[in-house]
Amino acid sequence: MRENAAVFALAGNPNSGKTSLFNFITGSRQHVGNYPGVTVEKKEGTVKVDDTILTFVDIPGTYSLNPYSLEEHIAMREIISEKISGIIVVVDTTRLIRHLYLVSQILETEKPVIIALNMFDEFEASGSVLDVDHLSEILGVPCVKTVGNRGKGVTELMSITLKTLRKEVPATGKPFHYSHEMEHATDAVCEIIHGKLSFNERWSAVNLLHFGNDFYDNTLFENLNEEDYNKITDIRNNLERMEGRDINSIITSGRYGFAAGVTAECFEENMHVDVTLSDKIDAIVAHRWLGIPIFLIILWMMFQLTFTLGELPVRWLQLFFEFLRNLATTALTEGIFQSLIVDGIIGGVGGVLVFLPNIILMFFFISLLEDTGYMARGVFIMDRVMHSFGLHGKSFIPMLVGFGCTVPAIMATRTLEDKRDRYITMFILPFMSCGARLPVYILFVGAFFSRRYAGTVIFSVYFFGIVLALLVAKILSFMKVSSTSFVMELPPYRVPTTRSVLLHIWERSWMYLRKAGTIILAFSIIMWCLMSFPRLPENKIHIEKHSASVMKSDLSYSFAGRFGKFIEPALKPLGFDWKIGVALISGFAAKEVVISSLSTIYSISNDEENKETKLNLQKALRDDPMMNPVNAYAFMLFILIYVPCIAVLGVLKRETGGWKWVVIMVIYTISLAWIVTFSFINIAKLLT
Ligand code: GDP
Ligand code: MG
Repeated sequence: MRENAAVFALAGNPNSGKTSLFNFITGSRQHVGNYPGVTVEKKEGTVKVDDTILTFVDIPGTYSLNPYSLEEHIAMREIISEKISGIIVVVDTTRLIRHLYLVSQILETEKPVIIALNMFDEFEASGSVLDVDHLSEILGVPCVKTVGNRGKGVTELMSITLKTLRKEVPATGKPFHYSHEMEHATDAVCEIIHGKLSFNERWSAVNLLHFGNDFYDNTLFENLNEEDYNKITDIRNNLERMEGRDINSIITSGRYGFAAGVTAECFEENMHVDVTLSDKIDAIVAHRWLGIPIFLIILWMMFQLTFTLGELPVRWLQLFFEFLRNLATTALTEGIFQSLIVDGIIGGVGGVLVFLPNIILMFFFISLLEDTGYMARGVFIMDRVMHSFGLHGKSFIPMLVGFGCTVPAIMATRTLEDKRDRYITMFILPFMSCGARLPVYILFVGAFFSRRYAGTVIFSVYFFGIVLALLVAKILSFMKVSSTSFVMELPPYRVPTTRSVLLHIWERSWMYLRKAGTIILAFSIIMWCLMSFPRLPENKIHIEKHSASVMKSDLSYSFAGRFGKFIEPALKPLGFDWKIGVALISGFAAKEVVISSLSTIYSISNDEENKETKLNLQKALRDDPMMNPVNAYAFMLFILIYVPCIAVLGVLKRETGGWKWVVIMVIYTISLAWIVTFSFINIAKLLT
């Protein structure tokens, strides 16, 4: 009978090109990253080949399948789960031995395996030669050449997958052998467990020898009893004594031996490789001392360009929204409804949307840095720095992800094996300015600083965030220096594909637009209501009419105004008035809401004569006597440090399993924001 649906897993080392292939196979748009840890949660996609529906699961990249880190855990569980009909192992052909190590471990499951010889373009360019048919014969599984980022070989991969499913080609692999003693021990364990387990006995025996009952927390070995485990322990001890080394080394060297042997059989290396261009670039860029300044200069340039190149399109969008406002103001009769549309919705959402060009630019640069392979160098150079601050080098990966959004960054901390490392990293992640904070910075920098210094000012806030994160990490790790070493493979430099860069930009811009249409729209309306009600009673209007404008008193009489006044004493020492207070509170929902709230506040409060100001938030901020460059910088610092948004608190709760850390996070970030901003204001006062 012919199968009509099947699930395949896509496994492989980090950076082997799994996600690229996955995207081409399923036509989806998952994030392709150039450093490990981007794919932590598994993703699924389906495709119909002939009359069969194939589901593919992109599982986290791992170097092996030992039950140590969460990724390896997820990967292994996925691979051995019953619903998986077969595994496509994506290997980087330019690093064949290393990647065949994982293949050897997957072959042991005796499930159908297909090997995608990815990066075949680079492999060919290196001048080495691989006998693919021979490789396929030795391994006993189909091997297909692919180029993941260009989708080459995907059609063939699919047809082989289908053939495998229909059992038209052999794919369960040929067993490879460990050392004589190890094989002996494996047989002995097989005898003990015979008939008691549901999964492949040889695989189970090897893993029981390797890890004993310290294995996956599933029901795989539940039928084994105490006595069985004792017998297995004896066998292991005996084996270790005979071989004179521990079980880990016995198994690892067995697998490496296999990988090296297979490679030697069918691979002919180009002996005339010169120093590659990548090596030459790395000699400077990943240099011990030059690396960090170069990294910082690149970041600085990125912000400078994001600001200056964005200026003109931002101006166009501003003009467009001004036009919309004028249109709405004249079309609608004056009153509460007009104010909702003009001040609340167009002002609020428009105020956020005008910064879309900056978002596009920033993620364009980030994706260039990622896709060329430079970000991986960033992680590499920061490794040493991270250590001296008591952090694991790998912590820098979630920190980089945090420049985009803190939510996936918190998820990316799952790659940290040590719980302490993981919690510390989660606690410093909010200080990495996320994409939502960027427009707030651009707004204030644009209003209070000359364009010559704009990029530098924005860079300084980001940089301050990184420094603060490292200092907090140092304190949280009780001043210890982390010694856990982290070996990171540096991928060669690559010319980014247009497709990948566009995907990346699209992903971020769409996120921004969607947020503007949902959360920000909703909060613009809510904030407008809170700022418009209750309305001033008639008799009061009369009295106030002489002093300031009617509208102004209306605002401070509203719920938002009263609340702002209530918290004003706490913000006074920081040089913020109640208007800023209201904006800050609204930033709990999402950082962009700060902009829409400010926009609505200034739009409602400005008096009638000042129509011009009403239209331009940056001008309105500049005209506010309360505001000046020092204040504006203080405000940016506060935005940087104080509470991450609700979405982040949500994942934090999920990842830590309770409210405790959420409460601690809120209290500690607000206090820290207050202290830092207060110090800044006072130092600035002393200096001027
Ligand atoms: P994953 O970590 O295994 O999911 O790998 P990704 O799909 O994120 O790919 C890592 C990097 O390798 C990306 O920059 C891809 O554009 C690039 N890449 C993927 N496949 C190929 C390939 O076959 N050839 C080349 N030259 N680059 C590739
Ligand atoms: Mg991936």
